[in-house]
Amino acid sequence: MVRTIDVPEMQRWLRRRGVAAVIAELAEVIRADFLRWSEIEKTPRVASHSPGGVIELMPAADGVQYGFKYVNGHPRNAREGKLTVMAFGVLADVATGYPLLLSEMTLATALRTAATSALAASVMARPDSRRMALIGNGAQSEFQCLAFHRLLGIDTVSAFDVDPAATARLQRNLACVTGLRVSAAASVAEAVRGADIVTTVTADKRRATILSADMIAPGTHINAIGGDCPGKTELDRRILANAQVVVEFAEQTRVEGEIQQMGADFAVTELWQVLSGAVAGRRDAAAVTVFDSVGFALEDFSTLRYLHQQAQTHGLGQALALVPTLDDPRDLFSLVAPPAVGARPRVRATAA
Ligand code: NAD
Repeated sequence: MVRTIDVPEMQRWLRRRGVAAVIAELAEVIRADFLRWSEIEKTPRVASHSPGGVIELMPAADGVQYGFKYVNGHPRNAREGKLTVMAFGVLADVATGYPLLLSEMTLATALRTAATSALAASVMARPDSRRMALIGNGAQSEFQCLAFHRLLGIDTVSAFDVDPAATARLQRNLACVTGLRVSAAASVAEAVRGADIVTTVTADKRRATILSADMIAPGTHINAIGGDCPGKTELDRRILANAQVVVEFAEQTRVEGEIQQMGADFAVTELWQVLSGAVAGRRDAAAVTVFDSVGFALEDFSTLRYLHQQAQTHGLGQALALVPTLDDPRDLFSLVAPPAVGARPRVRATAA
C-alpha cells in the first residue's frame, strides 16, 4: 500500500506539531541532503511554459529513493480564487520502482521554501540580523516569517505588498506569534530601510525591479525567491553585480533565477559549498549577499523523505491502493476478468 497525505491530514499534523517546529526539523534534513551533493542525481526541472504560467516536474534521487514534484506557477490564478503555486509529489523505492508516498505539496512547498531560505540565511546573513523586510505578502509569506523568526532570531518584519489587504492578512495571521512584530510599510523603500535581511517573494511573470541598488545598505542579506522562471525577476542587476551570490543548482538558476540577467560566466557559489564550509557565505560584515532561490528538486526530495519517515514513525497519512496486488504478477488481467461461472465476484457491485 502507498501512504498518502492529503491536505486535511497535512493540516491536522501541522496544527499538532506547529509550523515553525516542522520547518526547523525540515531545515536540518535539507542541510544534510545538500551536504551529500555528490550522491544526488540532479536534474534541472522540466518546465512547460504558457502565457499564464508554468507547469513543472522536479525529479531527484539518491540511488535508494526517487522523488518528483508536480508544481505550477500562475500569477494570475488569484483573480479566479486559485493558488499561484500548488503542488503534489511522489516518493518511490529505487530497487522496485514502487511508489512509497503520494503527498500534497502545496503546504509542503511553503515549508521547504521557508526552511531553505532560513538555512541559506543562517550561513549568509550577519549573525546580529534582527529586522527583515518582506516584499510580497502572499501565500508563502507567513512561512518565511516563521522560519526567519525561529531559525535566525528575526523579531521585526516590515512588510509591503501592492495589495494592502495581503499585508493586513499577514499581520492578522501572525498576531499571536510571541516575540515577532509585523508592521505595514507604505512602500518597498520604507520596508527595506534599516532591514538586515530583505526577502522578495512577489509573483509577476515579467522582468520586474522590486529592489533597486540604491535601496540596499552595505551588509544586507537578500533572500530573493519570487523570480524563479525565465523572464521573471525581482532584482536590479546592479545589486547582483556587486553582491556575493549563492544559488541552489547553478545549471538551473542560470536559466530561471535573478542571474538570468547576467552573463553565462557570472560567478556564483552553490549552497552546498557554503553549507560544507568550503566557501564563506559572507566575506565581511559590509558585503551584500544574495540567495538567488528558484526552488530545487533536492529540497522536495528531502521533504518527501521527511514526510515518509513521519508517516512510518507517527502514522501520518493513510494507506491507498494505488498499485495492484496480485497472486500472480503476470496475471494483471485477473483484476478485470469476468468471474468464472459459479465463482464469487471479486468486487461486489454497490447498490446505486
Ligand atoms: P502569491 O500570488 O500568493 O503572492 C504574491 C504576492 O506578491 C501577492 O500578494 C501580490 O500582491 C504581491 N506582489 C506582486 N507584485 C508585487 C510588487 N511589485 N510589489 C509588492 N508586492 C507584489 O504567490 P506566492 O505563492 O506567495 O509565491 C510568490 C512567488 O514566489 C511566486 O513567484 C512563486 O513562483 C515564487 N516561489 C518560489 C519558490 C522558491 O523555491 N524559490 C517557492 C515557492 C514560490
